[in-house]
Amino acid sequence: MFKKILVANRGEIALRIQRACRELGVKAVMVYSEADRDAKYVKLAEEAVCIGPAPSPLSYLNMPAIISAAEVTDAEAIHPGYGFLSENADFAERVEKSGFQFIGPSPESIRIMGDKVSAKQAMIRAGVPCVPGSEGELPDDPVQIRRIAKTIGYPVIIKAAGGGGGRGMRVVHTEAALINAVQMTKAEAGAAFGNPAVYMEKFLQNPRHIEIQVLADKHRNAVYLGERDCSMQRRHQKVIEEAPAPGIPRKLIERIGERCVAACKKIGYRGAGTFEFLYENGEFYFIEMNTRVQVEHPVTEWITGVDIVKTQIMVAAGEKLPFTQRQIEIRGHAIECRVNAEDPYKFTPSPGRITMWHAPGGPGVRVDSHAYTNYYVPPNYDSMIGKIIVHGDTREEALARMRTALSETVIEGINTNIPLHRELMVDAKFMAGGTNIHYLEEWLTHHKR
Ligand code: ADP
Repeated sequence: MFKKILVANRGEIALRIQRACRELGVKAVMVYSEADRDAKYVKLAEEAVCIGPAPSPLSYLNMPAIISAAEVTDAEAIHPGYGFLSENADFAERVEKSGFQFIGPSPESIRIMGDKVSAKQAMIRAGVPCVPGSEGELPDDPVQIRRIAKTIGYPVIIKAAGGGGGRGMRVVHTEAALINAVQMTKAEAGAAFGNPAVYMEKFLQNPRHIEIQVLADKHRNAVYLGERDCSMQRRHQKVIEEAPAPGIPRKLIERIGERCVAACKKIGYRGAGTFEFLYENGEFYFIEMNTRVQVEHPVTEWITGVDIVKTQIMVAAGEKLPFTQRQIEIRGHAIECRVNAEDPYKFTPSPGRITMWHAPGGPGVRVDSHAYTNYYVPPNYDSMIGKIIVHGDTREEALARMRTALSETVIEGINTNIPLHRELMVDAKFMAGGTNIHYLEEWLTHHKR
């Protein structure tokens, strides 16, 4: 096992990784920007290194600063968390070339999966079902583009090969709008992701977002830890996640889970990963793979009893997965609400000082957050300030626990989306389970204020 790990992230995930290190008896070096100097996990750290000013390009995205922080502190490995440099193949490569272990898959795996076109091609070869679409990147010729769209059938969605975070996508309903949409998406993708390549997919009308969590070691062992339902989204961004997915037969999950495990073995994948699918009419369609730990990992941890972050560290150190597929059992139901510093209905960010923070507790309640009373939410980063996760024997019990947890939660001084979560937890359709990816946006238009 490593003696010391550098945590190249901030916020709740930095704290989550610090906790995993403590449990493993590994020292965690925290890095921080000038805006995060007072973060509690920085104060609690045995060692912490300032890597630059508040803007992330100068700190959390600053590769030389992070690598030198690892050098001066004698860390052996770097955990990238999620976001920032976690899916940057060049970073993983530089980490390894500098003699550190990158806690994640190989740079090659990250590169293949980071480009959605090459990821889809790899999945097709590995026998994972994909959304029908263009074979690879779209050509420049408008005649050919129109022909591809006609074969797929409208509506179609134009997606950036290098896209992420719900950006770089455009739905097209008619041929008249097609070429303009392709050009606009290309221009945006070039500017936002440095890669103008786009591809086309059938736009599925009423799918659910279902994803499969995998873990793989360096000894060609891989398991899947069931599924998560992340259909409650706004602007393609997840708001509520749960596991298991309501109403999907276990047989179907097992079949797709086994496909994901086979794909991991085929591509020599190691570490934690998520295969994301759209699910419609009993069929799964792969959309992308995330090669890192995800925000919503706690719901899976709770229904399987597996600590995903600790296992990530163990397999990066070369250990074998400590369980086999047959030992993975699903117990009960877990739900996660993302707590964002934003207006609950207008969604404008609400950074600033939290004058009162009271977190919920009790049986089956977990709060992953770095916030506390008097914590200042900096305006420079993502608005998520934590997650409330609950577990129950049944989905009904989990829902009741989430309602109780939300009723206990007090956050003053800034706006948060807690009032929105309170409403959604008593919404009849959400309570029934199985809402699709458009449901939350539709709900929001009907509940305008
Ligand atoms: P990102 O990397 O930006 O998260 P994804 O490819 O994972 O992009 O897609 C994000 C979300 O966009 C999905 O969860 C779904 O809501 C929507 N989406 C993506 N592709 C399609 C499609 N072919 N049909 C319908 N919705 C889609």
